[in-house]
Formats: sequence, structure tokens, C-alpha cells
Amino acid sequence: MKTTADVIIVGGGVVGNAAAYYLAKRGVEVLVLEADDSIGHGGSSRNGGGVRQSGRDVRELPYAMYGIKHLWPTLSEELGVDVEYHQGGNLRLALEESHIDILKGQAERATALGLDVKLIDGKEVHEINPYLSDAIIGATWCPTDGHANPMKTTLAFYKRARELGARFISGEKVVELRKFKGRIRSVVTESGTIYEGNTVILAAGYESREISKTVGIDIPMSLFYETCLVTEAQPPMFDIMLGVATAEIYGHQCDHGSFVFGSGTGLEPSKVPDSSDLRVPALDVSANCRCIMKYVPMLKDAKVVRSWGGWMDITHDHVPVISPVEEVPGLLLACGMSGHGFGTGPAVGLLLSQMVVGEKPICDITPLRYDRFKSDR
Ligand SMILES: Cc1cc2nc3c(=O)[nH]c(=O)nc-3n(C[C@H](O)[C@H](O)[C@H](O)COP(=O)(O)OP(=O)(O)OC[C@H]3O[C@@H](n4cnc5c(N)ncnc54)[C@H](O)[C@@H]3O)c2cc1C
Repeated sequence: MKTTADVIIVGGGVVGNAAAYYLAKRGVEVLVLEADDSIGHGGSSRNGGGVRQSGRDVRELPYAMYGIKHLWPTLSEELGVDVEYHQGGNLRLALEESHIDILKGQAERATALGLDVKLIDGKEVHEINPYLSDAIIGATWCPTDGHANPMKTTLAFYKRARELGARFISGEKVVELRKFKGRIRSVVTESGTIYEGNTVILAAGYESREISKTVGIDIPMSLFYETCLVTEAQPPMFDIMLGVATAEIYGHQCDHGSFVFGSGTGLEPSKVPDSSDLRVPALDVSANCRCIMKYVPMLKDAKVVRSWGGWMDITHDHVPVISPVEEVPGLLLACGMSGHGFGTGPAVGLLLSQMVVGEKPICDITPLRYDRFKSDR
């Protein structure tokens, strides 16, 4: 087995797979090491499928907007798989005045960066989506947001990257990085195998923190658990992604009619942080349902057919780290997606490939550097 490549990617989530695809497309030799036996086992196949710009931190907006303008519309065609991308818009809903205040601030910051998003009143909300609760008093409306199928998207990048020559090894857990003459060089796995590359992209979600510590780099991140549920198929109602000002729930109707909603409990974290524990706590689904009823009461008789959960890698300031590392040349960090990494996954993959080959990046990534966390004391 060949254990060398120009670029070694640690982690086979949407970020690792997208980076592998865009690198392979540029003729770069890529090897992806994935700890799990299956590709896309992490958040990338467990998420709510939201592909949105509205409500994002201004540091994320430039590449979130790039992805929606230039990558998502042609992704199915480019990858040869229908990733079920729908650009039906996003309503971020408000039930009370304090919610309107949150949405107003978000809309103002985003429009300053050129995003088409506006605050609308309850009447306009119901004109756009008559299926929502009469209690809704307003929302932000972003017509270019949407949703897609997370598992199909992640595996589509994987499939196309492989077709272009990228190699993948699953069941190969990375435990250590090593430098040689001051540069990143080796990736050591639990099985004792040593892989060598000129560049290492660390895209292992929360586990990136332990791995980067082996070369003296710490990325302040914590684990946060959320649950998704899927209903039985409903008659076609709307193609819009729904969110709420308080970020309690988000969801959409899928191609086959089911609704998928994601949420936490709204209470203290219901699980001890442990990314290997994927069981759904009893509290989560009922809390999720109660919250959905506040916004979409007409789903009150829809049966929940399945639920699942996943862990998010949340950085200290809730914005990803997409960054070279001054102390370890050749190491690129791509983690801490902070619950937003599916919609931005294609753009992050593209950015990483551009960083490797020295192409002009699609946007300035300075605000996403890891050294923003360095102590100044
Ligand atoms: C319930 C839920 C709902 C969400 N909803 C949305 C949404 O609507 N929209 C949105 O944009 N985002 C959403 N997200 C967030 C999104 O899923 C993530 O930000 C995104 O999938 C991160 O992709 P990733 O490739 O960085 O990480 P992951 O998908 O977690 O991939 C990391 C990979 O690294 C592997 N790995 C870990 N340790 C090692 C190791 N030591 N060696 C080798 N491999 C390793 C893991 O097995 C995993 O496959 C949601 C997340 C959850 C959990």
C-alpha cells in the first residue's frame, strides 16, 4: 500500500471530501484518512441540510455567499449525483419583539456585505408561506438560501474525488502528526502506519483538537449535541428552509415529502460530551416537536418516523478555523465548523484546494485564522 501523497487529508466529512475533490480536479495527489469504517459518518451526514447565508457571522458570509452563487447551483451536474439542492429561500421567524431585534441586527450586517435579505412583517411571511403559525409576527427573508441532502452531497464529493484519482482509507484513525525539519511531514495512525505528505489538511471535526496538540497547536473548541427528526411523508407544502431568530429549530420538506427538523432541547446539554455516543436522549425529540408546533402547528398530526443525533465542533467564537499554521508550515486547519459546515462545505473545500496550489482564494480568510485565539497576555 502506498503511504505517501502530496496532500494528506485527515477526516472524511463534507469538508475533507470537498477538499479532496477540488484538489484532485487540480491534478494534486490526495490521500484521505478516515477513522470510521464509513465515509461521512460525522456531522456531514447527520445535519439538517440547511444551505444558508442569512443569520451567519459576517466572517463566514463571503464564502457562504460565494458557494451559493457559484458552487451549489451546478453541484449535482458537476458531481454526477442529484444532491437535492433547492434554492427556495429561507425564512428566519420571529414570535416576539425581542426576536425582531435579533433579526434586524443580522439583516443589517448581512446587507452591508451585499446579501439580499430583508426584514418582513407577519402578513408578508404568510404570503410567502401560508402554512406557518398565525403567531409569527415577522421574519427575515433571504430568497437565495436553500437546502440540500447532506448524505448525498458528502458521498457525491467522495465518489467524484475517487473518480479523479483521490485515494481514501477508512478505519484508519489518526493519532499523531509529526514535523521534519520544522515542516509538517508525517501522519501516524492507531494501526502504527506512518503516512507522509507535503501538506496535511486537518478536517477531523472536534477530534482535530487532540490531533493538532501533537504538534503544539490548540484550537479552542467544544462539543455540542443536536438531534434531527424526520416525519412521515406529507403532501407537498413548501420548498423553503425554515429557521428561527433564537436558532432553536431549523427544517425543511424533502423531495419525498418528509419534513426534517433539527434542534437541541433548549435545556442544559442533555448528554455528557463524548463524540462516540450517538444515542438520542429521550428529552430531545419531544422538545423538538413542542418547538416545531409553535411555528408550524399544522404538522401536529405528522408522525415522527426516525430521529438521530450528531455532534458539532463549536469554536470559542462560533466561527470556523480555516487556516495555515505559522509554527507548522504545511499544516492547514479546517475545523470548528460550529454547526454551519454543511452549507459552506463546498466553498471551504475549494478554499483549501486554492491554499494548497497557491491560487488566488475566493475570499480573504484572514478572519478565520487560528491565531485569532492566541493569548495577548
Ligand atoms: C444535528 C446537526 C444538524 C446540523 N445542521 C446543519 C445545517 O442545517 N446546515 C449546516 O450548514 N450545517 C449543519 N450542521 C453542521 C454540519 O453538519 C457540520 O458543520 C459539517 O458536517 C462539518 O463537516 P466536517 O467535514 O468538518 O466534519 P465531520 O462531518 O464531523 O467530519 C469529520 C470526519 O473526521 C473523522 N475523524 C475524526 N477523528 C479522526 C481521526 N482521529 N482520524 C481520522 N479521521 C477522523 C470523523 O469520523 C468524521 O468522518 C449540523 C450538525 C448537526 C450535528
